[in-house]
Amino acid sequence: MTTTAAARGRARTPEVASYRMYIDGKFVDARGGSTFDVYDPSTEAVVARVPAGGAEDVAGAVEAARRAFYQAGWKNVSAQERGRILFRIAERIRSRRAELAELETINSGKPIAESEYDMDDAATCYEYYGGLATKIHGEVMPVPADAVAFAMREPMGVAGQIIPWNYPLLMAAWKIAPALAAGCAVVIKPAEQTPLTLLRLAEDFEAVGLPPGVVNVVTGDGPGAGAPLVSHPDVRKIAFTGSAEVGRLIMRNAADQLKRVSLELGGKSPNIFFSDADFENAVDGALFGTFVNQGEVCSAGSRVLVQRDIYSKFVDAAAAKAKTIRLGPGLDRDTKMGPLVSAEQRDRVAGYLKTGRGEAKVAVGGGRPKQFDKGWYVEPTIFYDVDNAATIAQEEIFGPVMSVIPFTDEAEAIRIANATPYGLAAAVWTRDIFKAFRVVKALEAGIVWVNHMQPTFVEAPWGGYKASGFGRELGHWGVEEYLETKQVFINLDEKPIGWY
Ligand code: ADP
Ligand code: MG
Repeated sequence: MTTTAAARGRARTPEVASYRMYIDGKFVDARGGSTFDVYDPSTEAVVARVPAGGAEDVAGAVEAARRAFYQAGWKNVSAQERGRILFRIAERIRSRRAELAELETINSGKPIAESEYDMDDAATCYEYYGGLATKIHGEVMPVPADAVAFAMREPMGVAGQIIPWNYPLLMAAWKIAPALAAGCAVVIKPAEQTPLTLLRLAEDFEAVGLPPGVVNVVTGDGPGAGAPLVSHPDVRKIAFTGSAEVGRLIMRNAADQLKRVSLELGGKSPNIFFSDADFENAVDGALFGTFVNQGEVCSAGSRVLVQRDIYSKFVDAAAAKAKTIRLGPGLDRDTKMGPLVSAEQRDRVAGYLKTGRGEAKVAVGGGRPKQFDKGWYVEPTIFYDVDNAATIAQEEIFGPVMSVIPFTDEAEAIRIANATPYGLAAAVWTRDIFKAFRVVKALEAGIVWVNHMQPTFVEAPWGGYKASGFGRELGHWGVEEYLETKQVFINLDEKPIGWY
Protein backbone atom coordinates (compact mmCIF):
# COMPACT_ATOMS: atom_id res chain seq x y z
CA MET A 1 0.00 0.00 0.00
CA THR A 2 1.32 3.43 -0.82
CA THR A 3 1.46 6.06 1.87
CA THR A 4 0.10 9.42 0.83
CA ALA A 5 1.74 12.62 1.99
CA ALA A 6 -1.35 13.34 4.06
CA ALA A 7 -1.15 9.97 5.78
CA ARG A 8 2.52 10.51 6.51
CA GLY A 9 1.66 13.90 7.95
CA ARG A 10 -0.98 12.36 10.21
CA ALA A 11 1.33 9.60 11.35
CA ARG A 12 3.98 12.26 12.06
CA THR A 13 6.75 9.74 11.54
CA PRO A 14 8.03 10.62 8.11
CA GLU A 15 10.10 7.93 6.46
CA VAL A 16 13.70 8.72 5.59
CA ALA A 17 13.47 10.92 2.54
CA SER A 18 16.26 11.39 0.04
CA TYR A 19 16.92 14.96 -0.94
CA ARG A 20 19.16 16.31 -3.67
CA MET A 21 20.81 19.68 -3.89
CA TYR A 22 19.89 22.30 -6.48
CA ILE A 23 22.55 23.35 -8.96
CA ASP A 24 22.06 25.02 -12.35
CA GLY A 25 18.32 24.47 -12.21
CA LYS A 26 18.55 20.74 -11.55
CA PHE A 27 18.32 18.53 -8.49
CA VAL A 28 21.55 16.57 -8.26
CA ASP A 29 23.54 14.31 -5.97
CA ALA A 30 26.99 15.22 -4.72
CA ARG A 31 29.62 14.42 -7.35
CA GLY A 32 31.41 12.27 -4.81
CA GLY A 33 28.13 10.43 -4.17
CA SER A 34 28.14 10.72 -0.39
CA THR A 35 25.29 11.85 1.81
CA PHE A 36 24.75 12.84 5.41
CA ASP A 37 21.87 12.20 7.78
CA VAL A 38 19.39 14.83 8.93
CA TYR A 39 17.42 14.34 12.13
CA ASP A 40 14.21 15.11 13.93
CA PRO A 41 15.52 16.52 17.24
CA SER A 42 12.39 15.46 19.12
CA THR A 43 12.79 11.76 18.27
CA GLU A 44 16.50 11.63 17.37
CA ALA A 45 15.39 9.69 14.28
CA VAL A 46 16.98 10.17 10.87
CA VAL A 47 14.36 11.81 8.67
CA ALA A 48 16.36 12.57 5.55
CA ARG A 49 19.55 11.95 3.66
CA VAL A 50 21.09 14.90 1.94
CA PRO A 51 24.05 15.14 -0.46
CA ALA A 52 27.37 15.89 1.22
CA GLY A 53 28.61 18.50 -1.23
CA GLY A 54 32.32 19.16 -1.55
CA ALA A 55 34.68 21.48 -3.40
CA GLU A 56 33.75 20.12 -6.83
CA ASP A 57 30.04 20.63 -6.19
CA VAL A 58 30.73 24.18 -5.02
CA ALA A 59 32.80 24.76 -8.16
CA GLY A 60 29.93 23.50 -10.33
CA ALA A 61 27.45 25.75 -8.54
CA VAL A 62 29.70 28.80 -8.82
CA GLU A 63 30.25 28.09 -12.52
CA ALA A 64 26.48 27.85 -13.03
CA ALA A 65 25.99 31.13 -11.16
CA ARG A 66 28.72 32.80 -13.22
CA ARG A 67 27.14 31.60 -16.46
CA ALA A 68 23.72 32.79 -15.35
CA PHE A 69 25.08 36.17 -14.36
CA TYR A 70 27.51 36.97 -17.16
CA GLN A 71 26.38 34.90 -20.18
CA ALA A 72 22.76 33.97 -19.74
CA GLY A 73 21.93 37.56 -18.98
CA TRP A 74 20.65 37.62 -15.38
CA LYS A 75 22.69 40.78 -15.09
CA ASN A 76 20.40 42.40 -17.66
CA VAL A 77 17.07 41.13 -16.38
CA SER A 78 15.08 44.21 -15.46
CA ALA A 79 14.54 45.25 -11.88
CA GLN A 80 10.79 44.94 -12.47
CA GLU A 81 11.19 41.32 -13.51
CA ARG A 82 13.48 40.53 -10.58
CA GLY A 83 10.88 42.08 -8.31
CA ARG A 84 8.13 39.94 -9.80
CA ILE A 85 10.19 36.78 -9.28
CA LEU A 86 10.66 37.72 -5.63
CA PHE A 87 6.92 38.32 -5.22
CA ARG A 88 6.25 34.89 -6.72
CA ILE A 89 8.67 33.23 -4.28
CA ALA A 90 6.72 34.92 -1.46
CA GLU A 91 3.45 33.59 -2.89
CA ARG A 92 4.85 30.07 -2.96
CA ILE A 93 5.91 30.28 0.66
CA ARG A 94 2.50 31.57 1.65
CA SER A 95 0.67 28.87 -0.26
CA ARG A 96 2.92 26.09 1.10
CA ARG A 97 3.01 27.57 4.61
CA ALA A 98 1.59 24.54 6.45
CA GLU A 99 3.83 22.06 4.70
CA LEU A 100 6.99 24.15 5.02
CA ALA A 101 6.31 25.02 8.67
CA GLU A 102 5.77 21.37 9.54
CA LEU A 103 9.01 20.40 7.82
CA GLU A 104 10.87 23.23 9.58
CA THR A 105 9.62 21.99 12.93
CA ILE A 106 10.45 18.36 12.17
CA ASN A 107 13.98 19.35 11.18
CA SER A 108 14.79 22.07 13.74
CA GLY A 109 12.66 21.09 16.75
CA LYS A 110 11.06 24.50 17.18
CA PRO A 111 7.37 24.84 18.12
CA ILE A 112 5.09 24.75 15.08
CA ALA A 113 3.66 28.21 15.79
CA GLU A 114 7.18 29.64 15.66
CA SER A 115 7.80 27.88 12.34
CA GLU A 116 4.59 29.40 11.00
CA TYR A 117 5.77 32.88 12.02
CA ASP A 118 9.07 32.13 10.32
CA MET A 119 7.31 31.22 7.07
CA ASP A 120 5.28 34.44 7.21
CA ASP A 121 8.43 36.46 7.91
CA ALA A 122 10.29 34.74 5.09
CA ALA A 123 7.47 35.53 2.65
CA THR A 124 7.38 39.15 3.85
CA CYS A 125 11.12 39.39 3.31
CA TYR A 126 10.79 38.33 -0.34
CA GLU A 127 7.93 40.79 -0.78
CA TYR A 128 9.92 43.63 0.74
CA TYR A 129 12.89 43.05 -1.55
CA GLY A 130 10.55 42.45 -4.50
CA GLY A 131 9.40 46.03 -3.96
CA LEU A 132 12.89 47.33 -3.30
CA ALA A 133 14.33 45.88 -6.52
CA THR A 134 12.89 48.80 -8.52
CA LYS A 135 14.10 51.42 -6.04
CA ILE A 136 17.83 50.79 -6.35
CA HIS A 137 19.26 53.79 -8.11
CA GLY A 138 22.32 55.96 -8.26
CA GLU A 139 22.99 59.63 -7.65
CA VAL A 140 24.12 62.61 -9.67
CA MET A 141 26.88 64.69 -8.07
CA PRO A 142 27.22 68.49 -8.25
CA VAL A 143 30.60 68.62 -10.04
CA PRO A 144 31.60 71.80 -12.00
CA ALA A 145 29.40 72.80 -14.93
CA ASP A 146 31.61 71.42 -17.71
CA ALA A 147 31.14 67.84 -16.51
CA VAL A 148 28.54 65.42 -15.29
CA ALA A 149 29.36 62.85 -12.63
CA PHE A 150 27.07 60.19 -11.38
CA ALA A 151 27.25 57.03 -9.35
CA MET A 152 25.75 53.79 -10.61
CA ARG A 153 24.85 50.85 -8.40
CA GLU A 154 25.80 47.50 -9.85
CA PRO A 155 25.39 43.93 -8.60
CA MET A 156 28.62 42.45 -7.29
CA GLY A 157 28.24 39.23 -9.28
CA VAL A 158 28.17 35.81 -7.65
CA ALA A 159 27.38 35.97 -3.93
CA GLY A 160 28.22 33.09 -1.58
CA GLN A 161 25.87 32.76 1.39
CA ILE A 162 26.31 30.55 4.44
CA ILE A 163 23.48 30.26 6.91
CA PRO A 164 22.86 28.81 10.36
CA TRP A 165 20.37 26.25 11.64
CA ASN A 166 18.24 28.31 14.03
CA TYR A 167 15.90 29.97 11.49
CA PRO A 168 16.62 27.91 8.39
CA LEU A 169 14.19 29.17 5.75
CA LEU A 170 14.05 32.67 7.23
CA MET A 171 17.83 33.15 7.26
CA ALA A 172 17.90 31.95 3.64
CA ALA A 173 15.30 34.62 2.83
CA TRP A 174 17.34 37.35 4.54
CA LYS A 175 20.20 36.48 2.20
CA ILE A 176 18.62 35.35 -1.09
CA ALA A 177 16.02 38.13 -1.33
CA PRO A 178 18.35 41.17 -1.15
CA ALA A 179 20.95 39.47 -3.36
CA LEU A 180 18.37 38.89 -6.11
CA ALA A 181 16.93 42.38 -5.68
CA ALA A 182 20.45 43.70 -6.28
CA GLY A 183 20.81 41.50 -9.36
CA CYS A 184 23.40 39.07 -8.02
CA ALA A 185 23.47 35.32 -8.62
CA VAL A 186 23.66 33.16 -5.53
CA VAL A 187 25.29 30.02 -4.22
CA ILE A 188 23.82 29.34 -0.80
CA LYS A 189 24.79 26.70 1.73
CA PRO A 190 22.23 25.87 4.40
CA ALA A 191 23.45 24.53 7.72
CA GLU A 192 24.08 20.79 7.66
CA GLN A 193 21.60 20.31 10.53
CA THR A 194 18.66 21.98 8.75
CA PRO A 195 18.80 21.96 4.95
CA LEU A 196 15.31 20.60 4.26
CA THR A 197 12.99 23.58 3.91
CA LEU A 198 15.27 25.45 1.51
CA LEU A 199 15.61 22.33 -0.65
CA ARG A 200 11.82 21.99 -0.59
CA LEU A 201 11.35 25.62 -1.60
CA ALA A 202 13.88 25.17 -4.41
CA GLU A 203 11.32 22.87 -6.09
CA ASP A 204 9.51 26.09 -6.99
CA PHE A 205 12.45 28.12 -8.26
CA GLU A 206 11.92 27.21 -11.91
CA ALA A 207 8.19 27.85 -11.77
CA VAL A 208 8.64 31.34 -10.30
CA GLY A 209 10.82 32.25 -13.26
CA LEU A 210 14.31 32.01 -11.81
CA PRO A 211 16.64 31.11 -14.69
CA PRO A 212 18.90 28.09 -14.06
CA GLY A 213 22.00 28.98 -12.06
CA VAL A 214 20.66 32.19 -10.51
CA VAL A 215 20.10 30.49 -7.15
CA ASN A 216 22.05 27.32 -6.35
CA VAL A 217 21.67 25.43 -3.10
CA VAL A 218 24.72 23.39 -2.13
CA THR A 219 24.35 21.13 0.90
CA GLY A 220 27.23 19.97 3.02
CA ASP A 221 29.10 20.77 6.18
CA GLY A 222 31.27 23.78 6.97
CA PRO A 223 34.74 22.50 6.13
CA GLY A 224 33.49 20.41 3.17
CA ALA A 225 31.20 22.87 1.38
CA GLY A 226 31.37 26.18 3.26
CA ALA A 227 35.13 26.62 3.14
CA PRO A 228 35.48 26.05 -0.64
CA LEU A 229 32.70 28.58 -1.22
CA VAL A 230 34.61 31.16 0.82
CA SER A 231 37.86 30.57 -1.06
CA HIS A 232 36.41 30.27 -4.58
CA PRO A 233 37.96 33.04 -6.70
CA ASP A 234 34.76 33.73 -8.67
CA VAL A 235 32.66 34.39 -5.57
CA ARG A 236 32.70 38.15 -5.08
CA LYS A 237 31.15 38.31 -1.66
CA ILE A 238 30.41 36.07 1.31
CA ALA A 239 27.44 36.73 3.56
CA PHE A 240 27.63 34.65 6.72
CA THR A 241 25.49 34.18 9.79
CA GLY A 242 26.81 31.84 12.46
CA SER A 243 29.30 31.51 15.26
CA ALA A 244 32.00 34.09 15.97
CA GLU A 245 34.59 31.37 15.71
CA VAL A 246 33.63 30.46 12.14
CA GLY A 247 33.16 34.16 11.33
CA ARG A 248 36.81 34.80 12.16
CA LEU A 249 37.86 31.86 10.02
CA ILE A 250 35.81 33.12 7.09
CA MET A 251 37.25 36.60 7.35
CA ARG A 252 40.77 35.15 7.36
CA ASN A 253 40.04 32.87 4.41
CA ALA A 254 38.51 35.73 2.44
CA ALA A 255 41.46 38.05 3.06
CA ASP A 256 43.78 36.72 0.35
CA GLN A 257 41.31 37.64 -2.37
CA LEU A 258 40.13 40.75 -0.54
CA LYS A 259 36.70 39.26 -0.89
CA ARG A 260 33.89 41.28 0.60
CA VAL A 261 32.34 39.73 3.69
CA SER A 262 29.41 40.54 5.89
CA LEU A 263 29.19 38.72 9.19
CA GLU A 264 26.37 38.31 11.68
CA LEU A 265 27.91 36.49 14.61
CA GLY A 266 25.57 36.45 17.51
CA GLY A 267 26.09 37.87 20.93
CA LYS A 268 25.54 37.91 24.64
CA SER A 269 22.90 40.55 24.69
CA PRO A 270 21.88 42.44 27.82
CA ASN A 271 18.21 42.75 28.73
CA ILE A 272 18.07 45.52 31.34
CA PHE A 273 15.24 45.86 33.86
CA PHE A 274 14.89 49.02 35.92
CA SER A 275 12.70 48.89 38.99
CA ASP A 276 10.15 51.28 37.49
CA ALA A 277 9.36 48.88 34.62
CA ASP A 278 5.97 47.20 34.46
CA PHE A 279 6.79 44.12 36.51
CA GLU A 280 4.62 41.49 34.78
CA ASN A 281 5.68 42.59 31.31
CA ALA A 282 9.27 42.67 32.46
CA VAL A 283 9.24 39.07 33.68
CA ASP A 284 7.59 37.96 30.43
CA GLY A 285 10.12 39.98 28.47
CA ALA A 286 13.03 38.35 30.24
CA LEU A 287 11.68 34.86 29.54
CA PHE A 288 10.72 35.57 25.96
CA GLY A 289 14.01 37.35 25.28
CA THR A 290 16.00 34.32 26.41
CA PHE A 291 13.83 31.28 25.75
CA VAL A 292 12.09 31.90 22.45
CA ASN A 293 13.24 29.36 19.84
CA GLN A 294 14.81 27.33 22.70
CA GLY A 295 17.25 30.19 23.20
CA GLU A 296 18.83 29.34 19.85
CA VAL A 297 18.73 32.97 18.84
CA CYS A 298 21.70 35.18 17.99
CA SER A 299 20.04 38.13 19.71
CA ALA A 300 18.97 36.15 22.80
CA GLY A 301 18.79 38.47 25.81
CA SER A 302 20.68 35.94 27.87
CA ARG A 303 22.24 38.47 30.26
CA VAL A 304 19.36 39.74 32.33
CA LEU A 305 20.38 42.81 34.32
CA VAL A 306 17.97 43.59 37.15
CA GLN A 307 17.96 46.59 39.47
CA ARG A 308 18.59 45.57 43.07
CA ASP A 309 15.34 46.86 44.57
CA ILE A 310 13.30 44.38 42.47
CA TYR A 311 16.01 41.74 42.10
CA SER A 312 14.88 38.89 44.36
CA LYS A 313 11.22 39.34 43.53
CA PHE A 314 12.19 39.27 39.85
CA VAL A 315 14.30 36.11 40.12
CA ASP A 316 11.51 34.33 42.01
CA ALA A 317 8.81 35.38 39.55
CA ALA A 318 10.94 34.47 36.51
CA ALA A 319 11.80 31.08 37.99
CA ALA A 320 8.16 30.35 38.85
CA LYS A 321 7.05 31.22 35.34
CA ALA A 322 9.92 29.30 33.70
CA LYS A 323 8.70 26.17 35.48
CA THR A 324 5.42 26.45 33.59
CA ILE A 325 7.05 26.48 30.15
CA ARG A 326 5.83 23.39 28.42
CA LEU A 327 8.53 21.36 26.72
CA GLY A 328 7.71 18.87 24.03
CA PRO A 329 7.86 17.98 20.38
CA GLY A 330 7.39 21.03 18.21
CA LEU A 331 4.48 19.55 16.27
CA ASP A 332 2.43 19.40 19.46
CA ARG A 333 0.54 22.70 19.52
CA ASP A 334 0.76 22.91 23.32
CA THR A 335 4.55 22.95 23.20
CA LYS A 336 6.20 26.24 24.10
CA MET A 337 9.80 25.00 23.90
CA GLY A 338 11.14 22.22 21.70
CA PRO A 339 14.36 20.23 21.85
CA LEU A 340 17.68 21.72 20.77
CA VAL A 341 18.67 21.17 17.18
CA SER A 342 21.30 18.45 17.61
CA ALA A 343 22.99 16.17 20.09
CA GLU A 344 26.12 18.28 19.62
CA GLN A 345 24.28 21.47 20.56
CA ARG A 346 22.59 19.76 23.53
CA ASP A 347 26.02 18.62 24.75
CA ARG A 348 27.50 22.08 24.27
CA VAL A 349 24.70 23.64 26.31
CA ALA A 350 25.01 20.88 28.94
CA GLY A 351 28.69 21.82 29.26
CA TYR A 352 27.70 25.43 30.02
CA LEU A 353 25.12 24.26 32.55
CA LYS A 354 27.87 22.40 34.37
CA THR A 355 30.14 25.43 34.26
CA GLY A 356 27.27 27.63 35.44
CA ARG A 357 26.54 25.48 38.45
CA GLY A 358 30.06 26.23 39.62
CA GLU A 359 29.82 29.94 38.87
CA ALA A 360 26.39 31.01 40.12
CA LYS A 361 23.19 29.92 41.84
CA VAL A 362 20.43 27.99 40.04
CA ALA A 363 16.91 29.42 40.30
CA VAL A 364 15.34 26.86 38.00
CA GLY A 365 16.38 24.11 35.59
CA GLY A 366 20.02 23.36 35.09
CA GLY A 367 19.84 19.96 33.44
CA ARG A 368 17.97 17.63 31.15
CA PRO A 369 14.24 17.20 31.72
CA LYS A 370 13.35 13.79 33.09
CA GLN A 371 10.09 13.24 31.22
CA PHE A 372 11.61 12.43 27.82
CA ASP A 373 13.55 9.31 26.97
CA LYS A 374 14.25 10.64 23.45
CA GLY A 375 14.95 14.09 22.08
CA TRP A 376 17.65 16.68 22.69
CA TYR A 377 15.80 18.61 25.37
CA VAL A 378 17.32 20.98 27.89
CA GLU A 379 15.43 22.53 30.79
CA PRO A 380 14.85 26.28 30.64
CA THR A 381 17.48 27.41 33.09
CA ILE A 382 17.93 30.56 35.15
CA PHE A 383 21.21 31.26 36.92
CA TYR A 384 21.28 34.22 39.32
CA ASP A 385 23.89 36.11 41.29
CA VAL A 386 25.99 35.81 38.16
CA ASP A 387 29.20 37.83 37.95
CA ASN A 388 29.42 39.52 34.55
CA ALA A 389 32.94 38.14 34.23
CA ALA A 390 31.69 34.54 34.53
CA THR A 391 31.83 32.22 31.53
CA ILE A 392 28.03 31.99 31.46
CA ALA A 393 27.84 35.79 31.25
CA GLN A 394 30.51 36.20 28.57
CA GLU A 395 30.10 33.31 26.14
CA GLU A 396 27.23 32.74 23.76
CA ILE A 397 25.46 29.55 24.89
CA PHE A 398 22.76 29.32 22.20
CA GLY A 399 20.33 27.46 24.39
CA PRO A 400 17.65 28.22 27.01
CA VAL A 401 20.00 29.59 29.63
CA MET A 402 19.54 32.93 31.39
CA SER A 403 22.17 34.62 33.55
CA VAL A 404 20.70 37.16 35.95
CA ILE A 405 23.01 39.91 37.18
CA PRO A 406 22.05 42.56 39.75
CA PHE A 407 22.87 46.26 39.36
CA THR A 408 22.42 49.32 41.53
CA ASP A 409 22.03 52.30 39.23
CA GLU A 410 21.92 53.38 35.60
CA ALA A 411 25.67 53.90 35.32
CA GLU A 412 26.39 50.43 36.60
CA ALA A 413 23.78 48.90 34.29
CA ILE A 414 25.39 50.54 31.26
CA ARG A 415 28.87 49.52 32.34
CA ILE A 416 27.87 45.87 32.76
CA ALA A 417 25.76 45.86 29.60
CA ASN A 418 28.69 46.95 27.46
CA ALA A 419 31.26 44.74 29.18
CA THR A 420 31.29 41.91 26.64
CA PRO A 421 33.11 41.43 23.33
CA TYR A 422 29.74 41.28 21.56
CA GLY A 423 27.34 44.02 20.50
CA LEU A 424 24.43 42.57 18.59
CA ALA A 425 21.36 43.51 20.59
CA ALA A 426 20.14 44.95 23.88
CA ALA A 427 16.87 45.84 25.54
CA VAL A 428 15.92 48.28 28.26
CA TRP A 429 12.73 48.23 30.33
CA THR A 430 11.62 51.39 32.12
CA ARG A 431 8.68 53.79 32.14
CA ASP A 432 11.01 56.77 32.27
CA ILE A 433 11.47 58.07 28.74
CA PHE A 434 14.54 60.13 29.68
CA LYS A 435 16.28 57.14 31.19
CA ALA A 436 15.29 54.95 28.25
CA PHE A 437 16.91 57.31 25.75
CA ARG A 438 20.03 57.85 27.82
CA VAL A 439 20.54 54.10 28.01
CA VAL A 440 19.76 53.60 24.31
CA LYS A 441 22.48 56.11 23.45
CA ALA A 442 25.01 54.54 25.79
CA LEU A 443 24.58 50.93 24.64
CA GLU A 444 27.02 49.49 22.13
CA ALA A 445 24.64 47.32 20.15
CA GLY A 446 23.25 47.14 16.62
CA ILE A 447 19.65 46.77 17.83
CA VAL A 448 18.15 48.22 21.00
CA TRP A 449 14.60 47.48 22.05
CA VAL A 450 12.73 49.58 24.61
CA ASN A 451 10.11 47.70 26.65
CA HIS A 452 10.26 44.64 24.40
CA MET A 453 12.81 42.18 23.14
CA GLN A 454 13.15 40.29 19.85
CA PRO A 455 10.59 41.71 17.45
CA THR A 456 12.32 42.04 14.09
CA PHE A 457 10.99 43.70 10.98
CA VAL A 458 12.32 43.39 7.48
CA GLU A 459 12.16 47.18 7.03
CA ALA A 460 14.70 47.82 9.81
CA PRO A 461 18.46 47.14 9.89
CA TRP A 462 19.91 44.09 11.60
CA GLY A 463 23.54 43.52 12.52
CA GLY A 464 26.17 43.92 15.16
CA TYR A 465 28.68 46.21 16.78
CA LYS A 466 32.03 44.84 17.98
CA ALA A 467 32.55 41.06 17.78
CA SER A 468 28.95 40.55 16.67
CA GLY A 469 30.16 41.25 13.15
CA PHE A 470 29.66 43.92 10.54
CA GLY A 471 27.43 44.75 7.65
CA ARG A 472 23.67 45.13 8.01
CA GLU A 473 20.91 42.90 6.77
CA LEU A 474 17.29 43.82 6.09
CA GLY A 475 15.88 47.16 5.01
CA HIS A 476 17.68 49.14 2.35
CA TRP A 477 20.90 48.33 4.20
CA GLY A 478 20.51 44.68 3.24
CA VAL A 479 20.69 45.34 -0.46
CA GLU A 480 23.77 47.55 -0.13
CA GLU A 481 25.73 44.47 0.86
CA TYR A 482 25.34 43.13 -2.69
CA LEU A 483 26.04 46.31 -4.64
CA GLU A 484 29.16 47.97 -5.94
CA THR A 485 29.28 51.70 -6.66
CA LYS A 486 30.64 52.90 -9.99
CA GLN A 487 31.45 56.55 -10.51
CA VAL A 488 30.93 57.77 -14.07
CA PHE A 489 32.45 61.07 -15.17
CA ILE A 490 31.36 62.66 -18.45
CA ASN A 491 33.42 65.50 -19.76
CA LEU A 492 31.52 68.35 -21.46
CA ASP A 493 34.54 70.55 -22.17
CA GLU A 494 35.59 70.28 -25.82
CA LYS A 495 39.25 70.92 -25.00
CA PRO A 496 39.42 69.24 -21.65
CA ILE A 497 43.09 68.75 -20.92
CA GLY A 498 45.32 71.37 -22.56
CA TRP A 499 48.13 70.56 -20.20
CA TYR A 500 50.93 69.59 -22.60
P1 ADP B 1 27.40 25.96 14.91
O1 ADP B 1 28.76 25.71 15.50
O2 ADP B 1 26.39 26.37 15.88
O3 ADP B 1 26.95 24.86 14.02
P2 ADP B 1 28.62 27.43 12.84
O4 ADP B 1 29.08 28.82 12.87
O5 ADP B 1 29.64 26.35 12.91
O6 ADP B 1 27.57 27.25 14.00
O7 ADP B 1 27.73 27.17 11.56
C1 ADP B 1 27.08 28.16 10.80
C2 ADP B 1 27.25 27.86 9.32
O8 ADP B 1 28.63 27.97 9.00
C3 ADP B 1 26.83 26.46 8.89
O9 ADP B 1 26.21 26.53 7.62
C4 ADP B 1 28.15 25.73 8.81
O10 ADP B 1 28.15 24.63 7.93
C5 ADP B 1 29.06 26.82 8.30
N1 ADP B 1 30.48 26.61 8.55
C6 ADP B 1 31.05 25.96 9.59
N2 ADP B 1 32.40 25.95 9.46
C7 ADP B 1 32.70 26.61 8.31
C8 ADP B 1 33.91 26.94 7.62
N3 ADP B 1 35.08 26.57 8.08
N4 ADP B 1 33.82 27.65 6.48
C9 ADP B 1 32.63 28.03 5.99
N5 ADP B 1 31.46 27.74 6.58
C10 ADP B 1 31.48 27.04 7.73
MG1 MG C 1 30.34 24.92 14.20
